[in-house]
Amino acid sequence: MSVRFVKSSVASFGAAPADESGALRLIELCGRTAYKSEDKITEDSAKKFVLMLKSHGHLSVLEHSNAVLKIEKDPAVPAGAQGAPISFERMLEALGQRVSYHRLYRLGSGEGFLMAGNFRAWLDTLDSLKPYGRLRDLLLASLGGFFPAIFPVGDGAVRETFRDCRASLVGAEEQLELLKSGLSLDLPVFVFKFVCDRGITHEVVRHRVLSFTQESTRYVNYGNRGMILILPEELYGCFDEQTGELSTGRYPLADAWQKRAETLFDWYGQDLDRGLRPEIARDILPNLLKSELFISGRWSGWKHFITLRDSSQAHPRIRFIAQEVRRYFEGFGLTC
Ligand SMILES: Cc1cc2nc3c(=O)[nH]c(=O)nc-3n(C[C@H](O)[C@H](O)[C@H](O)COP(=O)(O)OP(=O)(O)OC[C@H]3O[C@@H](n4cnc5c(N)ncnc54)[C@H](O)[C@@H]3O)c2cc1C
Repeated sequence: MSVRFVKSSVASFGAAPADESGALRLIELCGRTAYKSEDKITEDSAKKFVLMLKSHGHLSVLEHSNAVLKIEKDPAVPAGAQGAPISFERMLEALGQRVSYHRLYRLGSGEGFLMAGNFRAWLDTLDSLKPYGRLRDLLLASLGGFFPAIFPVGDGAVRETFRDCRASLVGAEEQLELLKSGLSLDLPVFVFKFVCDRGITHEVVRHRVLSFTQESTRYVNYGNRGMILILPEELYGCFDEQTGELSTGRYPLADAWQKRAETLFDWYGQDLDRGLRPEIARDILPNLLKSELFISGRWSGWKHFITLRDSSQAHPRIRFIAQEVRRYFEGFGLTC
C-alpha cells in the first residue's frame, strides 16, 4: 500500500435534520467516520447503529443533532384547569446549570417558549429533571412523539397531565428563518466535515462549545488502507490536481517528501508486522496524517471559531478551513 497526499477540504452538511430518520442517518455517518466503516451503511442500518452507540454510552456522537420544541399554553383549556403551569420561568428554574446545554427563548410576552438541544443534551436533561415529574413528562412525551427511537416513552410511563400545554417541533427551515431574523435566535445546529491533518484537528477540537467525531487512529489500520497525508503548502506547486499525486521526479522537494513519508509508513508497517495493534503502531504516524472529522455547533460557536481562526495569527491550514466556514455562513447572510 502506498502513501498519498490530498489537500484539506471542508464540506457543509447544512442544518441538522429535524426528522428522526434524517437525524439517525447523519449520526450514523458521523459515527462510522470514526471507524471508517461507511461502507457498512445501508438503507436501514442507521437506527440499529445509533441505538448501539446510545447503549454503549457513546453519547458524544448523538450531539450531531438538534431537536427544537415550541411549548405553548393551549388557549382552549381554561387557566388553572391543570396542575402548576409549565412556563418559561419554571423551565429555567428546573434546568438550573443545565441551561447552558440548551437554547431557551420566551415567546412574546406569554408563557410559551422555544427550547433547543441536541439529542445528548436532551437525554442528560431528561435524566436530571426526574424530580420535576410533570415538566419532564411533557418533554419526554413531546420528544418521544417526534423521535421515538431516541426517546422511547414506554407503556404508561408518561402521565397525561399536561393537556393545557402543547408542544410542536420547529423544523430546520423555520429555525434558519428565526436565526436570520432580527431576533437572532441561535437555534439551528450546523454540521461540517473537515478533512485535515492531525495537527489541525488538535486545534479544532479545542473549541469546546462545538461537538466532534473524528477518525480514530486507534481503530483504523493504515497498513490495510494506505497512508494519506495532507499536502503541506510548500508542495502546492509540485502537486498534480488531475491525478491527485505529487509530481515526483520533477521536483527535488516532492521527492524528499515522498521519501520521508514512505519511510514513516514503512516503520508503521514494520510495527504492525511484529504484532502491534494499530492503536500502538500509530505512535510513529506523522502530524500530517489525513483525518476526517464531523463538527457540529450553533451559529454562536461557529462565529467564535471563525473570529479566532480566520486570523493572520492562525495556522494557514486552519485559517483556510475557517474561511470556508465563513463563506458558507455568508452565503445566507450571516457575517462576523
Ligand atoms: C492564534 C491562536 C494561538 C493559540 N495558541 C495556543 C497555544 O499556544 N497553546 C494552547 O494551549 N492553546 C492555544 N490556542 C488555543 C486557544 O487557547 C483556545 O483553546 C482555542 O482557541 C479555543 O478557544 P475558546 O476556549 O475561546 O473556545 P471554546 O472552547 O469554544 O469556548 C467558547 C467560549 O465558551 C466559554 N467557555 C468554554 N469553556 C469554558 C470554561 N471551561 N470556563 C470558562 N469559560 C468557558 C468561553 O466564554 C469561551 O470563549 C491558540 C488559539 C489561537 C486562535
